[in-house]
Amino acid sequence: MRYRLLLKMQQLKLINDAVQIIAGKSTGNLAEILIGKRDVNEFLIAKKINLTINQTRNILYKLLEAGMVSFTRKKDKDKAWYTYFWTLDLLKSLQVLENVLKKEIENYKKQLTLRETRRFYICRNCGIEVSEETALLNDFTCTECGNVYELNEDKKILTEIQGNINRIEKNLAVVREEIAQLRIEEEAKKTKEIKKKENAKKRKKPGKKKPTKKKNSKKR
Ligand SMILES: [Zn+2]
Repeated sequence: MRYRLLLKMQQLKLINDAVQIIAGKSTGNLAEILIGKRDVNEFLIAKKINLTINQTRNILYKLLEAGMVSFTRKKDKDKAWYTYFWTLDLLKSLQVLENVLKKEIENYKKQLTLRETRRFYICRNCGIEVSEETALLNDFTCTECGNVYELNEDKKILTEIQGNINRIEKNLAVVREEIAQLRIEEEAKKTKEIKKKENAKKRKKPGKKKPTKKKNSKKR
C-alpha cells in the first residue's frame, strides 16, 4: 500500500512538472485537481486554483494544444454559453515531459561539445564570457570596461553542465519507467475487456442455436 502511495506521489510530481513547463508556474495545484478524474468542471478548476475563468481557460488551452488534456462541453440550460469539462491524458502528459527532458539533455550536450571544441574568453573584471570569435572581433578587449580578455580555462562550467545532464537523465529514467508502467496497465485493461467480451459470447452461445433458421429464411 505504502509503495503504491509513493508511486502515486511520484506520478503527481511528474504531471505537475509537465503542467508547469507547458502552462507556467501560475497553474498551482492543477495537476492534483485533474489527476485520476474525468470531466472536471472548469469553474470548479478556476475556483480551486484561485484564478479567473479566462485565466484558467488560457492555461487549459495550452495543455490542450500540447495534447495533455481533452474536453467535452455542455450548453447551459438557460444561458447561451458552454461549460467545458476537462480530462487529463496521463500517458500523453508523461510523453510531453519525456520530450522536454530529452531536448534539455540535447541542448546541454551541445553546450558541452561546444565547450570542448572551442575556446572561450572572459573579462575577469566584469565576469562576462565571450566566444573566441567575439573576443577576436573586439581585439580581445572587453567592450564594457576595456580590460583585456583572458582565456577561460575554468573547468567548473563543464562539471556544472555534466551535472545538469546527469540530473535530467535520472529524471528522464523515472518518466520512462512511469510510461512503461502505464502501458502495462492499459494493456492489462484491454486484455481484461476482450476476455469479458469473449466470456459474454460464450455464455450466449448455448441458447443461440437457431441461426440455421435464419439461413432458411434468407432463401425466400
Ligand atoms: Zn570588462
